[in-house]
Amino acid sequence: MKYLSLIFIFLFFINTTAQTAKDFAADWDKQHFSKILPSNLRHADLKKQLDEIKKLGLKIEEVGRSYDNREIYQIEWGKGATKVFMWSQMHGDEPTATPALLDMLVYLQKNRSKTWIKELENNLTIRAVPMLNPDGAELFQRRNLQGIDINRDAAALETSEGRLLKKLRDAWSPAIGFNLHNQNSLTTVGKTPKQATISFLAVLGNAEGKTNDGHERNKRICSVMTSALENFIKGHIGRYDDSYNPRAFGDMISAWGTPVILIETGALHNRDEMFLVKLNFIAYLVALKSLVDKSERQADAKIYENLPFNDSGDLFNYIFRKANIVNFAENAAPFTADVAINAERRRADEIAPTYVREIGDLSIFSALDEYDAKDFYLVQKNGLLRNGAGGEFLFYKKTRQIDWMAKDLEKAFPPDAVFSNGKWTRGDTLLPKKF
Ligand SMILES: [Zn+2]
Repeated sequence: MKYLSLIFIFLFFINTTAQTAKDFAADWDKQHFSKILPSNLRHADLKKQLDEIKKLGLKIEEVGRSYDNREIYQIEWGKGATKVFMWSQMHGDEPTATPALLDMLVYLQKNRSKTWIKELENNLTIRAVPMLNPDGAELFQRRNLQGIDINRDAAALETSEGRLLKKLRDAWSPAIGFNLHNQNSLTTVGKTPKQATISFLAVLGNAEGKTNDGHERNKRICSVMTSALENFIKGHIGRYDDSYNPRAFGDMISAWGTPVILIETGALHNRDEMFLVKLNFIAYLVALKSLVDKSERQADAKIYENLPFNDSGDLFNYIFRKANIVNFAENAAPFTADVAINAERRRADEIAPTYVREIGDLSIFSALDEYDAKDFYLVQKNGLLRNGAGGEFLFYKKTRQIDWMAKDLEKAFPPDAVFSNGKWTRGDTLLPKKF
């Protein structure tokens, strides 16, 4: 009897602790299939990857074409009764979930001998559409090639990609949907200066705020994912704005009978895109596992409900504090101001241009990188410092005597430091960094 209870304790132990979020993270570190940074991934790369995945026995079929005739694929895994539908990159420049989906499906396929994955295989059928907007992905732009935001086409259905998404949903009637996006990297968790690295929304799908069982279940699953990800990004998880939009797919797919969870991936300063892929991988697995082992039923929806809502506008990429601004073309006296600049969203292998967003007293705002510029003159590299100007600055020590009206200023008076599109090209340690 004593031994029997020991065995039970042991079984309980391996059942509950063998697949924690940290285990999934370690598994991803060792096994992840994706090697290309999501933002660098092209449709041609995806096709090659899908060819590889096919060899593992995963079911992959072309389910439609984009406006520009690029193939759109659906991958299927599992043979269970509960239908799970997941789609990524409906916005072409929101790529994190595409490799995360592949990583998850390859992981599930390769580890089918594990008991808990067998349970998933026997209870779920997952259908995933990675890169729903391949034309947008090719150009790294939000919209499709018609210039239409596919996520505002759920009612009009003027895009082939939107019509496909609706067709796939309607023909299959999944029990749950995962709508996978990226949000601005400067989105914050409430009014804190913390980046919202991941934000969740259990979509309601109606304007009146009426809930239903699927929505309540999805709130609990969002709680499960939140608890799991807090191991890695505590304080960096937000709740996405839940106002109803009758043109958006998340809302309409929920309204059509497939309650949707929206996952928006932001960024985390000094962590690369693959870290975000890993977070997605973990989130999907804990969500699916909780659905199958029914642990979501014990989860507290309040964990999700108490997440602070996303906010924006108070966090910048860079702020130069108390700089002495010289608008030399105006030949006016220097003035003191904080200067904030933001970088545009670009592929990892491209330079992200930066633009001036605010000039003045920015003491209530913060930035991912802040510099103390009080001992320096700041000169806009090309012309006058203005909102919308390029974020390229020359810095001169205040102790120097400079003729600001000199022809070819940079040549006549070489600057002490130069900041250009998010990088110091000269004097990189000169301005004190603020933390
Ligand atoms: Zn999006």
